Formats: sequence, structure tokens, C-alpha cells
Amino acid sequence: MPKLTIRDIDVQDKEVLMRADFNVPYDDDNNITDDTRIVGALPTIQYLLEGGAKLVLCSHKGRPAKKRESLEPVAKRLAELLGQEVAFACDTVGEDATAKRAALSAGKVVLLENTRFEEGETKNSPELSKQLAGEASIFVNDAFGTAHRAHASTEGVSKFVEQSAMGFLIEKELEFLEGKLESPAKPFLAIMGGAKVSDKIQVIKAMMDKADEFIIGGAMAYTFRLAQGYQVGDSLVEPDFVELAKEILKDAETKGIKFHLPTDTRITQEFSPSAQTKVTQPYAEGGGIDDGWEGIDIGDAAIPEFEAVVARAGTILWNGPMGVFEMDNFAIGTKALTAAVAKSDALTIVGGGDSVTAANKFANPSDFDFLSTGGGASLELLEGKTLPGVAALSDQ
Ligand code: AMP
Repeated sequence: MPKLTIRDIDVQDKEVLMRADFNVPYDDDNNITDDTRIVGALPTIQYLLEGGAKLVLCSHKGRPAKKRESLEPVAKRLAELLGQEVAFACDTVGEDATAKRAALSAGKVVLLENTRFEEGETKNSPELSKQLAGEASIFVNDAFGTAHRAHASTEGVSKFVEQSAMGFLIEKELEFLEGKLESPAKPFLAIMGGAKVSDKIQVIKAMMDKADEFIIGGAMAYTFRLAQGYQVGDSLVEPDFVELAKEILKDAETKGIKFHLPTDTRITQEFSPSAQTKVTQPYAEGGGIDDGWEGIDIGDAAIPEFEAVVARAGTILWNGPMGVFEMDNFAIGTKALTAAVAKSDALTIVGGGDSVTAANKFANPSDFDFLSTGGGASLELLEGKTLPGVAALSDQ
């Protein structure tokens, strides 16, 4: 059943607790180095404030076990962006938070301290969830990046309020990663790359019933090549997934899915920005990558082949780079593929994490229909899993 969105609720004079994703990077002096996530939360925050909510914001920041980071710099930045005062509570559910929440009037906002300073957060403690809910009658979740985690501030809290609704960010993520992929314009092409087969192979499996074509690049391709019996040298592979890769290749054949692996590959003997590379065609009869050599990008012949597949697609879901794109000498394939997807007239959805970084680095973000903000959360959604932070919201 569809879930409530903030469009469905009346927040006038009500205390609303909103879970945002303010997990933004700081430099050594606690200056925010990238405020994209704060800017991304503004539409929901502004909508709630204009609706007359007494708004209580909360978020996690980093991993306090490694480094304890306060959200105070976020309150400052948010105040600048909103053009209004943002109170900051120096605790999450303690005295200061309670007092500052009680002092709120309609259209005013307070940000609570880092939810992960509370031990109960990641344990989804009912006690903490209840304290977080406090006097709020409404919970709004707009933190897509943590919606796949059942934590007190993402899931538990919804049991202690009257209504829970999603904000605009989560609504948009669901629209593109679920809604638009229900009956995609054909051919539907899934481009999968990156390093971790273990993270993405379940997505590939889930997509087998929907996608017409696949492009597999990045290190992931070598696990599939290993499954086909080729020698992959020192390339990064996940041997535990070779069997599943074999199953997928067989399944693709049975179902008539076009499963494109790079016909050639760029290899190196040294993993560095100044390393020499060469392109080989190791997947011909008897071919293979020699030991001591590692595949780090798709090859020169694979590029136009993949560009042709991209050009004929009606819908493109892209998750994962074609190579080690962080180094220029290994980024040729990712650059070309990013440009091809950006140029395409298809509906283009970029599935979060490193692909979004590549999209921003090698193209104009506005060339894509949607750039997802959640790495793990997008993958779980694409696998067909229910996200706890969405499941806990009130039904419409
Ligand atoms: P993932 O987290 O699975 O999306 O993987 C992203 C990472 O995969 C990026 O940091 C890339 O540098 C890396 N990557 C892509 N292709 C390769 C490759 N052939 N060998 C090693 N790492 C790769």
C-alpha cells in the first residue's frame, strides 16, 4: 500500500520530528566541505515550516566510535540557507533538547545533536525511539541514505507518533527507483560496474526479470569472465560468487537477455596514477590475462560496443564505474560511458555512490533524469527489498 507523504498531512501548530540526512563531510576545523545533503533537505524543511510546523530536526553524523562529530556546524549552515534562526540542542534527547523543543512555536526549527551519540540509535532501542518522538505527533523521514537501516531515528520512532510520512527526497527516490522501473520504456538497459560483486549480484538477479540488456564493467566483469573459464590474472575477483555468476549467464541465455561483457580490457602491472597500461583482447579462444597483470578498465574496442548499446536503450539504470576512474590513466572507459549515458534520450537513472561521483566528474548532472543519493539504500530497493525506514511509515 502506498505510504503517506508530507503532502497528505496537516502540520499547522504541530510538533514534527524530521529525520534528515545531514551526514556531510567536515575538514579538520569542522568546516563543512560539501553541503549537498543539507541543500537537498531544504524543500522538505521549507514545506513543513511554511505549513506551520514546530520543526525538530535530527540526523546521524559519521561514526562516533571512530570520531565524535557534533552537528552544530550543520545548524549554522542550515540557518544561512534558510535565512532564519536554527536553534541547536547540545544533546539528542536530554534536558537541552527537551527545553528547546518545548520553546518552539509554529514555523520555528531546532536541530538535535547527532543521533549516534546515543547508544540506542543503531540498536533501535524502543526507549530512545520514545524519547526521540517526545511530544511530536508527526514523524517525517527524509533520510533515504539510511532508510535501509532499522535504527531508532529511522524506524523505531514511528511507533511512538500518530502519523509518519515521507519527505520529498524519499518520495523522489521511490518514484525513480521503483515507480519508473515498473514498466520501463524498452529496451531497458542495466549498466553494472564497480568493485563489489557481492553488493550488486543480487541486484543483477532481481533485474533479470525486467532488463532487456545488461552491460557489465568494472572489476565485476572479471568474476563473470572467471565464471566463463578465462584466466583473469591479478584482476579483482570474488571467487565466492563465481557459481552465482555462472547461473546468471545461463539464465540470461535462456531468457534471451543480451548480456554484454567487455570484449577487451585495459591492464596494468602497477596500481598507480603514473602506471603504464595496455589494452588486450584476452577473451578470445585460449586467451587470458597473465599473472602479474590486473584489469583496471574496459578496453578500446569495448567502448564503441557499449556506446551502441546505450544509444538504443529506452531506459538506463546505471550503477558502478567501468574502471578505477579515480585515476585518470584508468578512467577512459568510465569517461566515455558517462558521456554516452548523458547524451542518451532514454530515461537515465544513476544508482548512487561512485556512479554519481563519475556523473558529476565527467558530465553535467542535469544531463541525467535522476541521480540517487543513497548507495546501500538504492541497491536494496533495486533488489526488491523493503526498506525498514519506508515500511514503518503510515499507510495512505
Ligand atoms: P563499488 O563500491 O562496488 O561501486 O565500486 C566502486 C569502485 O570500484 C571504485 O572505487 C573503482 O575504483 C573500483 N573499480 C572499478 N573497476 C575496477 C577494477 N577493474 N579493479 C579494481 N577496482 C575497480
